[in-house]
Amino acid sequence: MGFFRMGAGVAKRRLFYFLVALLITTAGVYLMHDGSMNPTLVSMGRFSLFNRTLTTIPPQPPIPEPVACIFPYVDIFDPNIMKLAGLDQTPLKCDHDFLPDVTRMDGLVLRVNSSKLKGDLRLRYCRYRNITRQPYKDHSVVYSRWSRKFTKEVKLTDEHEFFQVACYDGKYKNRVVSKAFYSLVPKNKHLESLFNMRIMKRAAEFNPLETLNIVGVALDGLPRHQMIRAMPKTYTHLTERLGSFDFQTHGQVADNTFPNILALLSGFTRAEVNKWWSWKNPEDVFDLLWHDFERAGYRTLYSEDNPRGAGFYWGNRSFMFPQTSYWNRPLELAMLNEPGFIRRKASCAGPRPVAEYQLDYMTRFLDRFPDKPVAGVTFIINLTHDDSTKAVTIDEHIRNFYGTLEAKGHLNRSVVMFFSDHGQRWGKIRQTYNGVVESRNPFLILTFPDWFLKKYPDIARTLRTNTQRLTTHFDTRQTLIDLMYFKGQEPTPPHRGRHGISLFREIPASRTCEAASIPWDQCLCGQGVEKFLDTNSSEAKALAEALLRAVQSRSEPAQCETYRLDQLLQVGALSLPTAWTKEKKRFMVASVRLTVQPGGAMFEATVNMNLNTNETSVGSKIERLNMYKGEVECRPTSLEQMFCYCKGNKEMLKQ
Ligand SMILES: [Zn+2]
Repeated sequence: MGFFRMGAGVAKRRLFYFLVALLITTAGVYLMHDGSMNPTLVSMGRFSLFNRTLTTIPPQPPIPEPVACIFPYVDIFDPNIMKLAGLDQTPLKCDHDFLPDVTRMDGLVLRVNSSKLKGDLRLRYCRYRNITRQPYKDHSVVYSRWSRKFTKEVKLTDEHEFFQVACYDGKYKNRVVSKAFYSLVPKNKHLESLFNMRIMKRAAEFNPLETLNIVGVALDGLPRHQMIRAMPKTYTHLTERLGSFDFQTHGQVADNTFPNILALLSGFTRAEVNKWWSWKNPEDVFDLLWHDFERAGYRTLYSEDNPRGAGFYWGNRSFMFPQTSYWNRPLELAMLNEPGFIRRKASCAGPRPVAEYQLDYMTRFLDRFPDKPVAGVTFIINLTHDDSTKAVTIDEHIRNFYGTLEAKGHLNRSVVMFFSDHGQRWGKIRQTYNGVVESRNPFLILTFPDWFLKKYPDIARTLRTNTQRLTTHFDTRQTLIDLMYFKGQEPTPPHRGRHGISLFREIPASRTCEAASIPWDQCLCGQGVEKFLDTNSSEAKALAEALLRAVQSRSEPAQCETYRLDQLLQVGALSLPTAWTKEKKRFMVASVRLTVQPGGAMFEATVNMNLNTNETSVGSKIERLNMYKGEVECRPTSLEQMFCYCKGNKEMLKQ
C-alpha cells in the first residue's frame, strides 16, 4: 500500500544529481581524449574553464545515486541485546530422553542394530508400515498394514516413500523399544521420462546457459541480526568460506508467514489474492513457482515441520494436490499423530531434532538426482517461530548441512538460499528498540558455486551491490525465475507478475518501500525513533486512543472483556525518509506501545496522525509483545486470542 507519495523535491534533487553527473562524466570523456578534444565543445562557455593542463586528471567517478532507503542503525552486538539472545544454549540434542533409534536406511535396505538397546531390553522383531496421503485431503493420512516381522534387515523397493518403523521387546510382547519415521525419495519411472523430456524441451526452446539446482532452507520468524548473533558458525562459514551474499536490507511484505511465502512462491500480495480467493478454498489456485520449475523439468520438493500451522496451513487451509514432486506432509502428519513422538515444543521428533529430518530429506533428494535439476525448500518452523533464541541450538546443524552439500559436490551445482520469512514478532528482544527494527528485517543469504561467479563476474558484482539495496522475497522470486531459464532465449516463462526485480539486475538505489511492494507499516526506511513524545501530551494520548480502539475492534465483545488503557508505555515519533519533505509537515508516524487491563496484554503498532485534521490510522500490523498462551482460550484461533481477554478467565480468577 502506498501511503506516501514521492514529493516533488525528490524529483528535483534527482534531476540535479543527474545533471551534475552528466556534466562531470561528459567533461571526463572529453578530457580523456588528449589532443583530440572537440574544439566546438571547448569553446562552449563552461567547458572552456578546463585548460589543457587538466587533461591528465582521471575521469571523475559518477556521483552515486542517493540511497533512498537506509534502515535505522542498531548495533547487532549491543551488549543489552546480547544478554537476551540466548547465546549460552547448547546444540539441540533429542536422544537422551527418548527410545534409541535402532534402525537406519542404507540405500534401500532398512538395517537393524540391536546393540543400541540399553539395559535389559532385547529385540524381538521390527516391522514397518507405509504412510500415504489421502487423495484430495491435505490433513489426513492413510496407513498400510504392518509389514512382516524382521530382525536384521529388510529390502525396500522404489515404491516406498514414507513409512514408520516400530521394534518390540523380547521380554514384554507389546513393549515398543524403538520408533522411527523415514522419508525416501522414490523415482517413478513414468515421471522420469516426463521430466527428461521437459529438460530436453527447455534446452531446445530456450537454450539456457546454465542449469543450477535450487536449495532453500528457511527458519521461521528469525530476524537477520539474531541469525548473525545466534548462528556464528553458519554465518562465518557462509560469508567467509563460501563467499555468500548477505542481503542486509531485506524487508518483509507483512508481519506473518503466509503473505511472505506467498510473495516468494506466487508473486502475489495477500491483498491481491484476497480479491479472488477466500480462506475456505484450496490453495492450489496460487500456482506456486514449483509448477513452473516442474514444467522446466526440475524435480521439486517442499517440506515444513508444522503440519497444523505455518504458512499455508494455519487456519485449517489446505491444498487439494501436493504442490511438489516430493511433498513431505504425510510423514509430518504421521509423526504428529504418534503419541509422544514430537516433543520439546516441537523441536524434537523422537530421538532426533526435527530440523535434522528436514535437512536429511533435502540431502537425500539431492543425492537421488545427481545429474538432473532439482528445486526444493525446507522450512524449519517450530524451532524459532516462538523463540528466536533457539536458533543458537541448530547453528551446528545448519553449518554441517552446508559441509555435507560441499563434500557431496551438491554445492558446486546449486544455488543455496538460507532465509527467513519475517522478523521476530514477540519476546524480550522484540520489546526493545533494537527489536522493533529487527522485527522487520528478515534475512536472505545466497550461495553460488564459485565457478558461476567467476564465469559471470557482472552478476557477482550486481549481487554484491544489491546486498546493500532494499530487497524483498518478491525479488528472490524473480531471481529464481531467472535461474530457471538462465540467460535463455527471451521471452522465457513464467509470468513474472508486477512485483520485484531479479537480484541479477541492479536494484535502483532510489528504491523506496512503495517501489519494493513493502507496505508503509512494514517499512524500515528511515524509520528510526526521532524523538519520544511526552506520554501525557495530547498527541500521545490521541495516538494511544487510536491503538486501543483498533485493538478493541479486533476483539469479540460477546466473549471478551472490554479493554481499558492501563499504561501508555512509550510513543516514539519515527523519522520519515529524508525525501518526504512535504509529508513531514502533514503526518506524524509513531510507534505506540501500551498495556491494557484486564489481562495486562502489551500491544504495539505504528499509528499515523494527520497533523492538519488530527485523524489517525493504525497500521495493519498490531503486535502483541507478551505471549497469550496460557490465558483461557475462548476464541478459536491464536490470532483472535491475541486480542481477547476471555470473560470466563476473569471469573475463574475470582474463585
Ligand atoms: Zn513465519
